[in-house]
Amino acid sequence: MKTISLAYLSLGLLACSPAVPPRNVVLVVVDTLRADHLGVYGYERPTSPRIDAFAADALRFADATSPAPWTLPSLATLMTSLYPSVHRATSESDLEDMTWYFQPREFRAFSKLHDAHLTLAEILRDAGFATWGAVQGSYPTGVFGLAQGFETYRENATPGIRFDLEDAFAWLDAKQPKRFLLYLHVIEVHAPYTPIEIRRGAHRKLDPERMPYYREAVAEERLRFLKSDFDPGYRGPIDGSQENLSQFARPGTRVRARDVQQLVALYDRGIAYVDHWVGELIDGLRERGLYDETIVVLTSDHGEEFFEHGRLEHSLSYYEEMLKVPLIVRVPGEARGVVVDETVGLVDVLPSLLDWLEIPAPDGLQGRSLRPGAGGDEAPERAYLGEASLRKGDLALRGPGWKYIRSGQGNEELYDLVADPRERTNRCAQQPADCDRYRARLAERVAEHRARADLLATPEPATIDDATLEELKALGYAD
Ligand SMILES: [Zn+2]
Repeated sequence: MKTISLAYLSLGLLACSPAVPPRNVVLVVVDTLRADHLGVYGYERPTSPRIDAFAADALRFADATSPAPWTLPSLATLMTSLYPSVHRATSESDLEDMTWYFQPREFRAFSKLHDAHLTLAEILRDAGFATWGAVQGSYPTGVFGLAQGFETYRENATPGIRFDLEDAFAWLDAKQPKRFLLYLHVIEVHAPYTPIEIRRGAHRKLDPERMPYYREAVAEERLRFLKSDFDPGYRGPIDGSQENLSQFARPGTRVRARDVQQLVALYDRGIAYVDHWVGELIDGLRERGLYDETIVVLTSDHGEEFFEHGRLEHSLSYYEEMLKVPLIVRVPGEARGVVVDETVGLVDVLPSLLDWLEIPAPDGLQGRSLRPGAGGDEAPERAYLGEASLRKGDLALRGPGWKYIRSGQGNEELYDLVADPRERTNRCAQQPADCDRYRARLAERVAEHRARADLLATPEPATIDDATLEELKALGYAD
């Protein structure tokens, strides 16, 4: 495995550009998957043998950062290459101190991704791609504007990744599209850390004739899920259900280190489960002769925290367990088994894909192409923004080896991610000049985003229907 910069790759020492650009794109977003819980990102537990094997044959971005610690803004950035404060598909609620959890009626997922924004699926559809998506969870849905550009978009249509993958391959086999975008949004790593089930409300549209098959297959999947028991000796109150997690997340609840270990083991079990199906996806593409014509992207929208900085699950913070996501991209004809160590962001994914596909990018994208050589040899230091919600005003700026966080109240944190990767020591007091510099840099970026957002569409409120509300409840977001 080689660790390398994009500039070095651009010298052509490893890249061997194909004569024709790749034809298709498969995008897999594993919701809530933090990078450091995959073997290929250094995890000691065997959570991800098949993802690791895939990465060995791909470009792996070792330092990829998410623009927000929760699904809607982050995913909208991935799909548009615009930051949350510009695309505005985010929350106007104060997501402070678990308000969203304990006073769920105060929680408002404010706006959807406006139709005026161009998404990856729209650009590819207009370039002649057949576009198909199967998503799990609430935010990746049409209610929040994320179905734009998909000819077929299946929302919580099946109980999970196995069934969505079967449907994807059935579609590919029947349609035999000349070019395609296939998007899978996977929820099994997200809390609750329990096996999949057929939910009466959410899955009422399952074909009644196929119910015996679904029941049998769900039973199989439950066994597969439970098989990866990373902490078999545990005896205690943690079971990974949503009720259980909310109880432990409550401020002031005493949580034993042993119980946190179990929470992590349960989370890891979901990763091992998804890993199996990512492997099946790769095998399925290979069997169909599509693997060497297709860009395959595996990433996540944000991570998950286990009290590293006092909280459980996700939504609020900007620490590495939350923002550092896997980004593994296999491009036919591109260098393989290479680790790119530069800091990159989910905001860069769309321009990179368009560059590899040789499709012109629309004006105004806020990311850059990660195609080796695209940025030239002397790419300037990039800093990536973290924007959790618009109202609260907490922001983060993340550059190579450093992170600056500023709360809406003006509290500041600065971390040296090389010397202090766990972000234990706030260096603002020792390095006031650096803090001043990053504060100014952040203010500049905020002003720039505000100016751009003003030129774009007015945010449009998301109308949350009963099915979405039910799904949000199942994920622990609403009451
Ligand atoms: Zn998410």
